[in-house]
Amino acid sequence: METNDKPIWPKEFKFCHACGGTDTIANDIIQAEKDAGKSDEKVIAFLYQHQSLIQDPGKTQLSAPKVTSFYDACSQCGTVRVVHVHVQKAVIGGPVPKQGPGFSNS
Ligand SMILES: [Zn+2]
Repeated sequence: METNDKPIWPKEFKFCHACGGTDTIANDIIQAEKDAGKSDEKVIAFLYQHQSLIQDPGKTQLSAPKVTSFYDACSQCGTVRVVHVHVQKAVIGGPVPKQGPGFSNS
């Protein structure tokens, strides 16, 4: 638990844990686009993202925290690292959507 009034999520990780650098490859590329006026300042760039549901497998739950981690690579040493983490509530289960013709379950 954090002691200040700032919300815990979303969370940014600004420094590379290997070299301490702050620049990342995807962010460098989008920053060049922003500097050229080709991209909006609010755009966040990353190389890939991963989503995980955090839940107790021994309990029946209707919702659980869904964690989305955004990854980028350090521009100085190449270390792939988490740069941003976002948490939302995900609804578990619910009605199964009907499948139309041509939809494969495999
Ligand atoms: Zn680094």
